[in-house]
Amino acid sequence: MLRGTEKIRSFFVCPLCGRRNGPFMHGASLFVRFHALSLWKNMPRKYLTRKNTLFYNKNSSAPFFVDYKAAEEMVDCAMRGGVNYYDTAWGYHNGGSEPALGTFLKNYPRKSYNLATKFPGYDLSNMGKVREIFEKQLEKCGVEYFDYYLMHNVCEMNIDAYLDESYGTYAYLDEQRRAGRIRHLGFSAHGDMPVLRRFLEKYGSGMEFCQLQINWLDWTFQHAKEKVDLLKSYNIPVWVMEPLRGGKLCSLSAEDEAKLKALRPQESVTGWGFRFVQSVPEVVVTLSGMSTLAQVQENLKTFETDAPLNADELAALSRIAREMTGKASLPCTACRYCTSHCPKKLDIPELIKLYNEHCFTGGGFIAPMVVGTLPAEKRPSACVGCGSCAKVCPQQIDIPAMMKDFAARLAKSE
Ligand code: SF4
Ligand code: SF4
Repeated sequence: MLRGTEKIRSFFVCPLCGRRNGPFMHGASLFVRFHALSLWKNMPRKYLTRKNTLFYNKNSSAPFFVDYKAAEEMVDCAMRGGVNYYDTAWGYHNGGSEPALGTFLKNYPRKSYNLATKFPGYDLSNMGKVREIFEKQLEKCGVEYFDYYLMHNVCEMNIDAYLDESYGTYAYLDEQRRAGRIRHLGFSAHGDMPVLRRFLEKYGSGMEFCQLQINWLDWTFQHAKEKVDLLKSYNIPVWVMEPLRGGKLCSLSAEDEAKLKALRPQESVTGWGFRFVQSVPEVVVTLSGMSTLAQVQENLKTFETDAPLNADELAALSRIAREMTGKASLPCTACRYCTSHCPKKLDIPELIKLYNEHCFTGGGFIAPMVVGTLPAEKRPSACVGCGSCAKVCPQQIDIPAMMKDFAARLAKSE
């Protein structure tokens, strides 16, 4: 069973020189965080849909596609640069990512890379089909085993189904692990703390890694720190997804950028995002979604050095994060004074948290997904606008207005 960074390091061998930890690590650094490439955004950004997982070519008769030539160049560049972890999934590129990645990696010896894919539990209709899907994935990728296999997107919407043994998801995957067809079993999670706790209580002892959304903004905004601490208590190492929050952290206001430049004149704003994840000791692999060859090259250059942030630099990022989320967020402190006054018994602070996330992200799938798991009478649309909550809110939040706006935004996203 894989546990802790020491053991993981041994799996990351530079395909160029054969040394452990690869060419980025030939200096004093011992970490292997960047030996990873996510293919799921390997397309020009102008083709990205809102969810950043599928690509639409308006000029093509085929609605979803992978640009094989561009993507293959990126994989070749990454392999030459020492990247040896490649992440795909059943649903990426409308099912086209797995065969594409399998095709590109065929050019390399099987032992020179680590291939990761995932069971698509984000779609409840896949529950109960784990055997059929897993076999198909091996076929699509053209491999006999996966180095890393994840239960995909454990969240509020699917936690009950993932925990439901009658579907046999975990049992089957564990069996494949024992058979050597899965080398390491883990999970990715977008759920909040209660979901993560439930999942770990049941499967924590069988999980070898966890992929989480970690970046300097979500460190507190989406409780990434708490999640990392919880995983640490299970001795489960962390893979990072969305280190730049889908590109949102690649540019800042001129004022914020100047503050960072004053601290590290040579670092780009994007570089600060990667330096942040390099500062989290529990992080072992950083999956950076890249859309162009230039981004692959830029990321390779960034990860030539392991340069974690110092306390002052972390504090500066934290201040900027607070200002950014503060401007776009309602200042709910989760005191819960309001909830006992609500005739509809709505979980007001929880809904405000989701509303803040939804507004800050400019949409996204998380809030619609979580609200979708609530019964109709507990959703923002159930608010009758009585205002009893607002009268007792110490933060003077206009809760009825928020509920109305949230309901309208969610209706639009359907
Ligand atoms: S305004 Fe809405 S959220 Fe507030 S107490 Fe009334 S029903 Fe509940
Ligand atoms: S009373 Fe106000 S601050 Fe407290 S939980 Fe309710 S909305 Fe949040």
